[in-house]
Amino acid sequence: MYMIVKEVNGMQGLFAVQRYKLNEILFEIKGEEMHYPTRTSIQINSNVHINVQSPLVFINHSCFPNIEIDQKNIKVIKPIEPGDEICFDYNRSEFDLANKFECITCGQWIKGANHAKDYPCLIQPNSYISHLSEKQNI
Ligand SMILES: [Zn+2]
Repeated sequence: MYMIVKEVNGMQGLFAVQRYKLNEILFEIKGEEMHYPTRTSIQINSNVHINVQSPLVFINHSCFPNIEIDQKNIKVIKPIEPGDEICFDYNRSEFDLANKFECITCGQWIKGANHAKDYPCLIQPNSYISHLSEKQNI
């Protein structure tokens, strides 16, 4: 796995230094399992959040992601080229973010899927969020 953490616009992020193909599994998410979100956790199913370390903790949000969280796997959903930042859409993977913020690209608030009704244009149905939605009736 060849990736680097670097700072862009005052924020650290995770960047590819090689190519990754569609559907490739980049990481398995490992760490302490919790039943609530924190600033450093990733939600992997309806009630489990994993507290992640480096390098996963450096993966930033994007509304135009190239990876997604699929249970404990981080999967490529758009081919990745060397130099691309690795990002997933926190609005799709988390119900309710512990650390809500404004997206630096589009300026919308990123709060999590439970708030999808506030931002209908941002949430594109995909398999993962539909899977989560069944359990929560979002
Ligand atoms: Zn955005």
